[in-house]
Amino acid sequence: MTDAEALRALMEADRWIDRVIAQRDHLPETEELATLEGQLRVEIVAIRGAEEAIAPLRAAYEEVAARAERLQRRRRELQAALAASTGGARDLSAMQHELESVAAQGDLADDETLELLGSIEERESHVERLRGDIKPKLARREELRGVVEQLRASLDDEVSSLRAARDERVREVSEPLRTRYQRAMDRVGTSGAAQIVAGRCDGCRIALAPLDLDRAKNLVDGTFMDCPSCGRVLVA
Ligand SMILES: [Zn+2]
Repeated sequence: MTDAEALRALMEADRWIDRVIAQRDHLPETEELATLEGQLRVEIVAIRGAEEAIAPLRAAYEEVAARAERLQRRRRELQAALAASTGGARDLSAMQHELESVAAQGDLADDETLELLGSIEERESHVERLRGDIKPKLARREELRGVVEQLRASLDDEVSSLRAARDERVREVSEPLRTRYQRAMDRVGTSGAAQIVAGRCDGCRIALAPLDLDRAKNLVDGTFMDCPSCGRVLVA
């Protein structure tokens, strides 16, 4: 194997590893999961808010219901007293007055109780609806978490085996070319070598000056120049 072939094989191996890592780090499922989690956060806050808004209504309901109960009791007492009445006309009239007032207040309290109850029930069913609405999203989140975990694990395995194969390629590149390659890769990433495609380095995508292109074409076999822009070793 010539140095150029060994260099090219190493470059391909590194580019492949880079692609798999990029794939692992930019899974469409990961993006979908992030979007979904964002939506769920907002919706869960809305559900909590809707639930919290019910608490003061429940407190108001308890209070009004207790008041309605007290008025009802007083109404019965007055009715019983009037029915068994032996008092004077003045007392009877005062009791009759109170009964009318208590009855009116009791009716109001009953109306208020019903109104609050209706409002609470309406809000509770709204919360139920919201809870129902997010269920498919919660299920999808679980599903995506599983898929992402699985995909990442399998791509990690792939990277590991590609790295093992890459170690073989490295051994086939002779020194000092191997060191040149590794230094360039440490500096710019992805791979330590690149090719000239249509007058550009395909590592950094920058066009070579005409003089550099000439130089690249007329290199003695087995010698290599570095890309003037990114420093990667250029292979024919
Ligand atoms: Zn370059």
